[in-house]
Amino acid sequence: RKIRIYELAKMLNIENKNLLEILQDLGVEAKSHMSSIDTDIAQIVEETLREDKEAKHGDSKEATVTAKEVIRIDEGSTIERVAKILGKPVNLVVKELITAGFMVPASAIVNDEIAKAIGKAFNVVLSIVPVEAEVSDEEKKEVAIQSERKRQQEPPKKLLPRPPIVTVMGHVDHGKTTLLDYIRKTNVTAKEAGGITQHIGASVVEHNSKKIVFLDTPGHEAFTSMRARGAQVTDIVILIVAADDGVMPQTVEALNHAKAANVPIVVAINKIDKPNAKPDRVKQQLADLGLIPEEWGGDTIMVEISAKTGLNVDELLEMILLVAEMNELVADYEANPEGVVIEAQLDKGKGPVATVIVQQGTLRRGDILLFETTWGRVRAMIDHLGRNIKEVTPSLPAEILGLNEVPQAGERFVRVEDEKEARDAIDKYLEKKRQQEMQAVKRASLEELFEQMEKGEMPTVKIILKSDVQGTLEAIKSSLQRLSVEEVGIEIVHEGVGRITESDVMLADASDAIIIGFNVRPDGNARKLAEQKGIQIRLYRTIYDVIDDVKAAVEGMLAPKL
Ligand code: GDP
Repeated sequence: RKIRIYELAKMLNIENKNLLEILQDLGVEAKSHMSSIDTDIAQIVEETLREDKEAKHGDSKEATVTAKEVIRIDEGSTIERVAKILGKPVNLVVKELITAGFMVPASAIVNDEIAKAIGKAFNVVLSIVPVEAEVSDEEKKEVAIQSERKRQQEPPKKLLPRPPIVTVMGHVDHGKTTLLDYIRKTNVTAKEAGGITQHIGASVVEHNSKKIVFLDTPGHEAFTSMRARGAQVTDIVILIVAADDGVMPQTVEALNHAKAANVPIVVAINKIDKPNAKPDRVKQQLADLGLIPEEWGGDTIMVEISAKTGLNVDELLEMILLVAEMNELVADYEANPEGVVIEAQLDKGKGPVATVIVQQGTLRRGDILLFETTWGRVRAMIDHLGRNIKEVTPSLPAEILGLNEVPQAGERFVRVEDEKEARDAIDKYLEKKRQQEMQAVKRASLEELFEQMEKGEMPTVKIILKSDVQGTLEAIKSSLQRLSVEEVGIEIVHEGVGRITESDVMLADASDAIIIGFNVRPDGNARKLAEQKGIQIRLYRTIYDVIDDVKAAVEGMLAPKL
């Protein structure tokens, strides 16, 4: 199959004459923009261009090194550390990173990309120095003096203990839910507080007048999907293993996830009340996996419990508090509040509702919060007992109302000074995301186009369209259908009102379609599945943007006339 030069140039968004030059370099004969070349050569051109672009990127980095102040940071430094070196508030650095599209916690290690983004935001060049690298004594001294100077300028932080945040993990049916229920039933002082336990995604229990926070979604999936977003909330994992069943595949999986996250593990050997319970066999199995019980000279705390009868559950809680103490869990209660979304949904009456856990600072009603995909002013806060509260301190969960849209679980937030700041950051973020998605679709379309042309088919953009109301759905549909041209078709495979669901993603996967959401978002499962399957979900708020994007995609796909 062949394609004309001018058409390829249009697709690649370059001048005809530049394309002809590139072809000449590649030794391909092409006289004018009306000449045709093979599509596989076109593909090579596209790849060459992409490589070129990446290489250029590298060059420009080199070039700026001389112009700006170069600051060396040790390999493995966290964002917090770098903020200190720069003498900037860590929240500001995190916020700049969010604006630049990096959703990372202050504790994240600074890699090349993050270093670049921070450098850009603060007009310096951060150079990551390998730890083993030889640094002269002179330099060492200079760095030491500087960091000491910075340290003295900073007001001392008021770090206070905070409650541990615990996730229960283990194989299915080993007793995760039963354990959580038992702990909640016996340790939440609901009556005293005049409330009833509410499901807000996390529970707060009290043991020996010390608080422990349990995340309500047991298992490693939620844990890991949060981590995948750069949010680590869990301080301690309870790995539960049924004594009658022993270590099972998901036990090993959970163990590996906890290990990967470097989170301390307390083992609960459950169902000890059962006659066929074999706790020693479980210990042996765990020891084989590297978790050696204390009584055998190792350092893993293991408690034999019955989640059903409550046997030794107190001791388990005791051990959790002990591990928390050993790990010195502290937070700065007076810092600018920041934290993570545990779960969120759209409530018919209340609007977007998110349960968050505060990680630093004290969150107060009226605060303006910037999330990764939305923002809002906290209109009301509700604790796990359903009480209206005015403030939340570190580690504690609260349901918050007043956000403009529903954030995703695992999204981080920080408090910002004013609404404009929040709005600007979100606009920038959305624009950046839109551009990234656009680029992705263009590339995919080009390759697809070649494939379809190879097969001699007419290329078609397949679309699954979801919208918040029927009216806009119709409007978008008819505008899109008008875009259909002779050479490229637009096919609306499925349309509907409401959120983008898992079944939409499955359909898109099966029919090779992209999903367009207008004023709607994918739910958690849909998002996950789409990520797995590489299905594009594109979200819009204005009809104009939808049409514009699809038009660009169609134009990029215009088939050559042969
Ligand atoms: P999950 O899938 O890990 O959440 O497990 P569940 O909490 O749903 O427990 C699975 C089954 O085991 C249920 O029928 C529970 O009643 C039972 N179970 C849980 N803990 C115990 C226990 O300590 N002793 C006994 N005998 N049964 C238990």
